[in-house]
Amino acid sequence: MFRHFIVRFFPRFAERCEAESREWLIQCPNCGHEVSVWDAGGIRYKARGTVYRYGKCSRCNERHMLKVYRWGG
Ligand SMILES: [Zn+2]
Repeated sequence: MFRHFIVRFFPRFAERCEAESREWLIQCPNCGHEVSVWDAGGIRYKARGTVYRYGKCSRCNERHMLKVYRWGG
């Protein structure tokens, strides 16, 4: 997996990626479930603004336009 590759060869970069990815949340518009991008298995680094991604919510198991935003602005 891509993330394991980064952790293996660029550990310091991986730490920054993880810290930043944990500040991004994925929110389901259907049930309100929130999970960090990192915990969802993703990476979000050097990104800005709010984006919407079509995906499946891990709680309600339905597909929605999930909101990806950074908490605290
Ligand atoms: Zn949901």
